[in-house]
Amino acid sequence: MGPRGGPVLICVGGLHGNEPPGVLALRRLILRLEAEPRGLRGRLVGLTGNRAALEVGERFVDEDLNRIWKPDRIERVRGGVDPAIAEEEELLELFDAIEAELAECPDARLIDLHSTSGGGSAFTTLDDSLANRELAFALPVPHVLGLEEELSGTMVGYLNDRGLTAIGFESGQHLDPASVDRAEAAVWIAMEACGVLERGARPEVEEARRLLEREGRVRPDVVEVRHRHAVEAGDGFEMLPGYENFQRTRRGELLARDARGPIHSTEDGMILMPLYQDQGADGFFVIRRVNRIWLTVSAWVRRIRLDRIVHWLPGVRRHPELPGVFYVDRSRARWLALQIFHLLGFRRRARAGSILEMIRREGF
Ligand SMILES: [Zn+2]
Repeated sequence: MGPRGGPVLICVGGLHGNEPPGVLALRRLILRLEAEPRGLRGRLVGLTGNRAALEVGERFVDEDLNRIWKPDRIERVRGGVDPAIAEEEELLELFDAIEAELAECPDARLIDLHSTSGGGSAFTTLDDSLANRELAFALPVPHVLGLEEELSGTMVGYLNDRGLTAIGFESGQHLDPASVDRAEAAVWIAMEACGVLERGARPEVEEARRLLEREGRVRPDVVEVRHRHAVEAGDGFEMLPGYENFQRTRRGELLARDARGPIHSTEDGMILMPLYQDQGADGFFVIRRVNRIWLTVSAWVRRIRLDRIVHWLPGVRRHPELPGVFYVDRSRARWLALQIFHLLGFRRRARAGSILEMIRREGF
């Protein structure tokens, strides 16, 4: 939707089939733009995620479509999809649609619209590159860093690894009509932030800002993921009722139960994405606020390329061949080394015992 040759914003809704708000928001917004295209300088591309799963209202049919974006898997699917896995066809369609846009506009930006089973304020999720920050911070909601280190095979993670600007937006509870309004608001604001809409040309953008500010029950701020409680099929995981996003928790607080017994909070912080549905591998996350000064400092140390001397730290060594990859021995380097790596724009790629493999983000 919009003229070619300008900036492009791609928005994906319903990558999880039980999360219709993104799809509904994009439909509504595109209808509005078609009726009234004033101020459009570039293109908004709306893509529907897992159509097969949306039809049945399930998170996925055979496999989670937001966990299979891995280079080798994509390569294989491009060579021929497995008809026994509904999501392979969906993956290929989405991949081709995004590639077609990137061929025309290599710096197209992307927002992946999701919703959650628990309630609470909307928020963004982002891999902490400076380009992602610029897009996410345009939205007046809290921002969650570090989720991508906990999840592998996400669409946004795959695009970030290729150096593209891509973030997630979680708009609230799956079936709450207000989640559709919040998702739509996020897209209006992002369109202006990306230059797809001329600045100040549409009153909808200001309305959208007011809506997200009013709806947000927590102060727009930056938080980081400190802990993920992984759930496997057959665990019998059951979150205690009444939790919602950004609800405070104390270390030791009883949060959930599974077949092995009670599950307690690992530290003082806030709860994110408590699981109140059958499908999904994340029981809950514990998050903590990040000081804004830390973000300013980190933008600065990345610009002056302090990462070039990071191997001087105790317990840190360079990968013998791969530039931008380092090993951190946590038994020697302690938690500070990990913090320093995050500050410098690295993220965890793998873990083996006490050894972490850290990789510098593309376009950090
Ligand atoms: Zn989702």
